[in-house]
Amino acid sequence: MAKIIGIDLGTTNSCVCVLEGTGPRGEPEIAVIPNVEGARTTPSVVAFTERGDRLVGQVAKRQATTNPTRTIAAVKRLMGQKFSAAEVQTQKAVSSYNIVEHENGDAWVEIDGQRYSPPEISSMVLRAMKEIAETYVGEEITQAVVTVPAYFDDAQRQATKDAGRIAGLEIERIINEPTAAALAYGLDKTASGRIVVYDLGGGTFDISVLEIASGVFSVKATGGDTHLGGEDFDRLLIDRLAEEFLEKNNIDLRQDKMSLQRLREAVERAKHELSSSLETEVNLPFIATGPSGPLHLERTVKRSELEILVRPLVDRTIAACKATLKDAGLGPEDIGEVVLVGGMTRMPLVQRAVVEYFGKQPNKTVNPDEVVAFGAAIQAAALSGTIDEVLLLDVTPLSIGVETGGGVFTRLIPRNTTIPTERSEIFTTSVDNQNFVPVHVLQGEREMAQDNRSLASFELTGIPPAPRGVPKIQVTFSIDAEGLLSVSARDLGTGRAHSVTVRPASGLTQAEVDQLVAAGERYREADELRRSLAELKNQAETLIYTTEQAVDAYGELLSPDHTAKVRAQIQNLKALLASGAGLDAIRAAYMELEGAAYDIAELMYGGAEAKS
Ligand code: AMP
Repeated sequence: MAKIIGIDLGTTNSCVCVLEGTGPRGEPEIAVIPNVEGARTTPSVVAFTERGDRLVGQVAKRQATTNPTRTIAAVKRLMGQKFSAAEVQTQKAVSSYNIVEHENGDAWVEIDGQRYSPPEISSMVLRAMKEIAETYVGEEITQAVVTVPAYFDDAQRQATKDAGRIAGLEIERIINEPTAAALAYGLDKTASGRIVVYDLGGGTFDISVLEIASGVFSVKATGGDTHLGGEDFDRLLIDRLAEEFLEKNNIDLRQDKMSLQRLREAVERAKHELSSSLETEVNLPFIATGPSGPLHLERTVKRSELEILVRPLVDRTIAACKATLKDAGLGPEDIGEVVLVGGMTRMPLVQRAVVEYFGKQPNKTVNPDEVVAFGAAIQAAALSGTIDEVLLLDVTPLSIGVETGGGVFTRLIPRNTTIPTERSEIFTTSVDNQNFVPVHVLQGEREMAQDNRSLASFELTGIPPAPRGVPKIQVTFSIDAEGLLSVSARDLGTGRAHSVTVRPASGLTQAEVDQLVAAGERYREADELRRSLAELKNQAETLIYTTEQAVDAYGELLSPDHTAKVRAQIQNLKALLASGAGLDAIRAAYMELEGAAYDIAELMYGGAEAKS
């Protein structure tokens, strides 16, 4: 049975898990797969170098400060999004890379004149996760369960599926992140109850209320703040230290990209340390140069100081918890279990605030950065039949409806309806002999259609001539277990099925996806070439070094002509390496020098050649 992996495709970091086997009681044993650097999570960052090479993960994140305009972080925020020109401007202001309005208002990324759709960038992260898993299990992987925030709408889920297809991964199931977290804790096995999943990551805060009854999960309500996360905590401390430095030295560290990046990294490290220690040092030597020489930043930060500084942010998460519980018609006392997700929940202040509000200790036996991928792998194992089926029921995060007279939005499936679900509606004509009826499907909570997200438009055609209001066409809207919408229609008069093709208003066509798959292959070839080149260069440098050593040490065994020839070959190879020559040229020079090195070795062991 082919393995299906579980991927948490996060805004800041991604994580991949796989089922390794089952324990003595049939419980799933899940492995969190480390990347080549040994890290269990990989930054969801993609970058292009000046030469057009593509970098993904830690290597991409590391070069972000020196190459900000070609480094794409947090592309998840753009997935399946439509932006007005004004919104594009706002997004541009918070991103270091260029965001452009593509056709139909889709937000795309533009780098060096080349446009990339968000699913395409996302697919590069997914492909990296797929490769991490393939190296670990030693076989090709083509199927995955991928998680998305519970509030993701149809277009965002479609976009995630597209990303999978481009990466060469069939996404067998999309599941909600909080549901995956609950699965990781085995809460599906508990009798019944209500769970809150409190997820505070690097860039976003999500809160979900789930209800489980004999293994069936339903999401009762979701909420949060898509612009509140660990980076905001870091920013407050960065500002505090930078302001102090400014006051003392009259230099604003935030104005210099390098200094800012160093400060940012040091502050994040300090924040991590303060989760286990009460005090830490931020130590940044030579952070700037003043009139009288180099300046250093040395500062002790106490946990209490950080807590006072970030308390308002933590309070905002609790306010969002209150609002979401209210939505679900519940109070904190109704919650049986609180699950913590996201690296920020390691902060003691966050944990205290959660305990204070919910009146109980949170469940935190699984690593908060890995819990979502862990749950996805459990769902994957259930889908492949390796463990018992887990029945998941989620809810629609937003209402689905149609545009009716005067541009009004008429709800058909209200938000928080348990899925899969199906609703039918009868449509008719508004003028005599009208032979088609236009249907515009939207998703959202606003009263007017134009304020909601357009999912699809289509026409019911071939209606036989009849006075207005007489034809009756029944349109059925179905939302499947993944939250994806499909539509079918039937003429109640003739009994004939009407064909309806829903072209998602946002998303890529099959042709576009195929084209991107081919482009992905090209990247793969380019990546492989780059890897081979790097390896060859490394070998070449070693060969140059050892041959130089050999010529210096055993030169007297060689004829002067031979010595001169070998030195020329060394110079030639060195020049090729320095000039950025291609694989073939370097390989040819390498082989030549290698041959010469072998000759020297033979002479070393077989005696000197005649010197002329
Ligand atoms: P995630 O998106 O779940 O990977 O969360 C990443 C966020 O968690 C980043 O802002 C990290 O700085 C933060 N984080 C990770 N570990 C810790 C820790 N030990 N203490 C405080 N924050 C942490």
